Amino acid sequence: MSGLYARERQSVSCMAHLRFFPQAVVGGSGAYLTADDGRRLLDFAASWGAASLGHSHPAVRAAVDRALSDQAGASYLSSANEACVLLAEKLLSLVPEQARGRVWFGHSGSDANETVARMVIAATGRSRILAFDGAYHGGTVGSMAVSGHPAQQGARADGLTLVPYPNSYAADTPQAASEAALAYLDKLFETEIAPDEIAAFFIEPIQSDGGMLVPPDGFFRAVEERCRRHGILIISDEVKVGLGRSGRFNAFEHSGIEPDIVVFGKGLGGGLPISAVVGPEAIMNHAVAFSLQTVHGNPVCAAAALAVLETIQRERLTENAARTGRVLRDGLDALSRRHALIGDVRGHGLALGVELVGDRASRAPAMRETALTVYRAFQLGLVLYYVGVRSNVLEFTPPLTLTESEAREGLAILDQALADVAAGRV
Ligand code: PLP
Repeated sequence: MSGLYARERQSVSCMAHLRFFPQAVVGGSGAYLTADDGRRLLDFAASWGAASLGHSHPAVRAAVDRALSDQAGASYLSSANEACVLLAEKLLSLVPEQARGRVWFGHSGSDANETVARMVIAATGRSRILAFDGAYHGGTVGSMAVSGHPAQQGARADGLTLVPYPNSYAADTPQAASEAALAYLDKLFETEIAPDEIAAFFIEPIQSDGGMLVPPDGFFRAVEERCRRHGILIISDEVKVGLGRSGRFNAFEHSGIEPDIVVFGKGLGGGLPISAVVGPEAIMNHAVAFSLQTVHGNPVCAAAALAVLETIQRERLTENAARTGRVLRDGLDALSRRHALIGDVRGHGLALGVELVGDRASRAPAMRETALTVYRAFQLGLVLYYVGVRSNVLEFTPPLTLTESEAREGLAILDQALADVAAGRV
């Protein structure tokens, strides 16, 4: 155990699964982290997608330096500052027409989802929320209240109703998964809850923490059709897979739907804490009454976010996510032909998941092997993490700047890690 990591264990409260990275980090550049013993680690996690431009990107550094050296950086009044106005205008230009009203700024995906839940209930006068089984919308009380991840079971709101997210791998066919979820939703409306009591449906266009599940073709179109029929707002949680990561700027574009409200976080600040809810004026005006947070709209974070968005456009990083994501995806498919542990490979762009199973016929989850693979990869120099309601899905959310050679380097390490786990060498 390295010295800094030992001290961190003594002094910092951290997430349990960081035990798979028994090392502290002292720096980073691009897709690489530097550990406190000088080791370079290729980062396929990018801080759960937050380091969207990689580590220490010059555009983010320059924007932060400028904002800090400007007097306004030190003496701002909430979001009434130039960086926030410019960022709000930019975000409004990046969402569907019907969401182009106002922007609320927060610090995390959690506070944004919590705020939007309160806003839609206040604005519509309807008291219920729909979300998906397995959905992770945050770790604060209010965002857990609208989440469906099993780890958050105790925190759900009374007004929350969960609907199954179609899992194409677990079902016989994607079509069957889609039909079963839609039938559940229709039955719910017929027998359990009046649709006109539902304010909004929280969707993840790709369900990341639930296992990087990609919805079957046409599924969200059918959900959208039902929401429109009943006046239910659609909130697209783009916190992890949005902002170019999926190979489209907004991940909901893969499904061809147009949500009413879009939530951004994580990668928006390139690592700095900022989130945004973008939606129609009539709904967003409800934020004013109750959603005051002292440092929301911080101009330094807003300047970083503007630099992130400009860099994604200037460097064509959405296109890079699609192209490099293809290389990664092809490589993972190739690994699946050689490693029996791999049951399924899925995702879009640089939002990819690999489900590990003990047996391909039964699809029994290989939880222990998943954890060991993450640990072995770390030992070999690759940072990974895992997700899924059964904790057996390796998730890949590398920086959008990832190059093809970095993708290949990571694949080679993963190949070795999987072989070592299968041979019991860990
Ligand atoms: N929404 C989604 C889809 C997420 O993946 C996460 C975090 O993993 C959140 C919301 C919460 O974001 P944060 O951790 O910034 O509060």
